[in-house]
Amino acid sequence: VKPPQFDYHDPRGIDEALALLAEHGEEAKLLAGGQSLVPLLNFRLTYPAHLIDLGRVPSLTYIRREDGVLRIGAMTRQATLEASPLVATHWPLLTEALTFVAHAQIRNRGTVGGSVVHADPAAELPVAFTALEATFHARSSTGRRSIGCDDFFVTHLTTSLKPEELLSEIEVPAVPDNTGWAFTEYSRRHGDFALGGAAALITIQDGACSRARIALLAAADTPLRASEAEDALEGKAVNEKVAQEAARLAVAEISPTGDIHGGSEYRRYLIEGMVRRAIEQATERVGR
Ligand SMILES: Cc1cc2nc3c(=O)[nH]c(=O)nc-3n(C[C@H](O)[C@H](O)[C@H](O)COP(=O)(O)OP(=O)(O)OC[C@H]3O[C@@H](n4cnc5c(N)ncnc54)[C@H](O)[C@@H]3O)c2cc1C
Repeated sequence: VKPPQFDYHDPRGIDEALALLAEHGEEAKLLAGGQSLVPLLNFRLTYPAHLIDLGRVPSLTYIRREDGVLRIGAMTRQATLEASPLVATHWPLLTEALTFVAHAQIRNRGTVGGSVVHADPAAELPVAFTALEATFHARSSTGRRSIGCDDFFVTHLTTSLKPEELLSEIEVPAVPDNTGWAFTEYSRRHGDFALGGAAALITIQDGACSRARIALLAAADTPLRASEAEDALEGKAVNEKVAQEAARLAVAEISPTGDIHGGSEYRRYLIEGMVRRAIEQATERVGR
């Protein structure tokens, strides 16, 4: 299988990349790690006339903590984020989510920004960023824009980025003290795309949940916040019954797309179990 023909560009800096995007916009695709785009090209599911390789734009690769906020350059490799002690200490949900992403070889090439912009609802990073309430920073030759998770993910494989924009940075706010985390998922083999899963952040104050953030994996066309489940947890001491009820609410309104790996009803049942497990595990980890 061979990709369709395209003109290849390898800009040496962000301004050059943005100028190429401004010129070729609708007809161009950015190449990051190539782990999703190259298969799409080879299967001829996309036909860009221009491929703009971000591999030589070093200013898009960094992991920094500034004023308690995590800033990740879009071209940071998934493996680099996974191995970051800074991230493991302050944003362990991301570290845990990454252990489920594909295989080491793919994480070595695949970038954080590429995973986010590819916007597969079964991809772990977009779900973890949704639970963490991340902000996505976009750049074009004419300006900058910041987009929250709710507005960024539009549907399956589609974000609200414009053709002339690139994702430059993911900003993740600090996680409150006394917060436990968990990322759970089920897939047929480790490294396969998940059939369902959940990310949870549970904050406990005086024995009760003061804040809950839950996001669902492979439950809809985009990562999905389970707001009713979060509301059901807040103010309560989290025990098995409370976690079970929250999990029930999390899946009450979803109808995941079924396929040969599992029907919609089965996936709903699976996600319910994953949410309950994530809430319980996150609660157990508070204070660790
Ligand atoms: C066998 C296999 C198994 C996999 N399993 C999983 C899995 O279990 N979980 C999971 O989450 N992923 C999985 N992946 C996908 C992997 O994580 C990819 O690395 C990721 O989806 C895309 O990142 P990339 O850097 O390779 O991006 P690319 O493939 O280069 O690009 C993906 C898309 O994002 C766009 N893009 C990239 N960077 C930017 C940017 N900065 N601004 C704007 N647009 C941009 C590209 O134009 C393209 O449309 C798997 C991949 C393979 C091959």
